Amino acid sequence: MTAYEHMTNMCAIGKRNAGFGGDLKAAAYIEKAFNDLRLKQVRRQRFACYGWDFTDCKLAVHHNGQKKIIPSLPCYHSPSTPAGGVHGEYVYLDSPDAPEAAWKKTEAKILIINQEFLESAALYDKFDRYKPAAVLYVCASRSGVFVGTMDRHIVRGRRALPAAGIEYADAAAIAAEGADALNLIIDAAFIENTYSENVLARVETPGAKKNIILGAHFDTIPLPHCATDNTAGMAVILDAAEKLAGCTLKNYNVDLIAFSAEEIDRQGAADYIVKNAEAIKNSVLMIYIDGCGVHIGRNHIRVIGDEKTEKFLQDAADNTGYPVSTSRGVSYLDHGYVASMGVPAAYLFRGHLNDWHTVNDVPENVSAKQLDAMSDYLANAVLALDGLDAYPNWKIDPATLDKLNKDIASFRIK
Ligand SMILES: [Zn+2]
Repeated sequence: MTAYEHMTNMCAIGKRNAGFGGDLKAAAYIEKAFNDLRLKQVRRQRFACYGWDFTDCKLAVHHNGQKKIIPSLPCYHSPSTPAGGVHGEYVYLDSPDAPEAAWKKTEAKILIINQEFLESAALYDKFDRYKPAAVLYVCASRSGVFVGTMDRHIVRGRRALPAAGIEYADAAAIAAEGADALNLIIDAAFIENTYSENVLARVETPGAKKNIILGAHFDTIPLPHCATDNTAGMAVILDAAEKLAGCTLKNYNVDLIAFSAEEIDRQGAADYIVKNAEAIKNSVLMIYIDGCGVHIGRNHIRVIGDEKTEKFLQDAADNTGYPVSTSRGVSYLDHGYVASMGVPAAYLFRGHLNDWHTVNDVPENVSAKQLDAMSDYLANAVLALDGLDAYPNWKIDPATLDKLNKDIASFRIK
């Protein structure tokens, strides 16, 4: 089966947000695909997690007796609004240091805030003091987007505020034309005690002592499709597994990991590194895919590791005829968790697509040719590594490792 077919099959499942059932259907699909390839150690690893879902999000702008619906999506972890929604005037804040006057009496009002301010402590303080009824984050160019950081602080750590994202152009129109009132309706559910499943498999090489890890996440935000983020990436892993299952390797097992719950605080990765520590420690490299397959884009590899790792991955691309640029630096998708175990980890993507985390992330955005080229690259990189005379001595420097571990510990919601 081609990568593109795997992608459309998984997209057809619908929403696959962790803990709500669609994720388990996708896990079963991936498990079957691994079994169809006759891979070894195929298994689902269940883990306890929390989950979040929504069924409705509607923003209406009332002005001069007219009502206009603006596209919006709730922020992750947003609570539902009260029945009938939050209805009130809006206050537009163009800076977290906006004068106090702009913040006063926000109790019944909806704040419109530029997304740039997400991590401002001054902003949290003002939320606490002036208690707005709801908040709308303005996002650069996406038509309604999940905002993944600030909302968590507000909901889990502080006050539970209904929060949604709107597009810049819509916010600008509200500011320019004015509005008598906004009405925000969010119907959402947060589940504290649920579970999801990672799916693992191995392309086994008899006698091999070391492993190469290939991974991607298959869960989605609570929207259907999510084609490029990251159904396509998961499909590329399945396709690369098929290509590698047909090869004879000498030195490495290829461990395949399909993560769930990436989109909700990477709970799947946190579980994976605990339950599979031994196999991970015997691995020399991980390659992770998230956000790929778009027709127009740029292939890039971001490496948590040293120059030698980066050079190997670049050379493997050159030899495959796969155009890619590379860089080094820490990033915190699922591969960051594996890197925290001391395994150099590369993040391979093709982007950036402004439709990520929107209803517009559909299969039509994905190029079958790009998926095939990416799985060719993955398989060729694995074969190149297997062909080296000795195990590489690639390292993550201690300061970076320390930072990874500290940052990851701080992500855990207490
Ligand atoms: Zn993703």
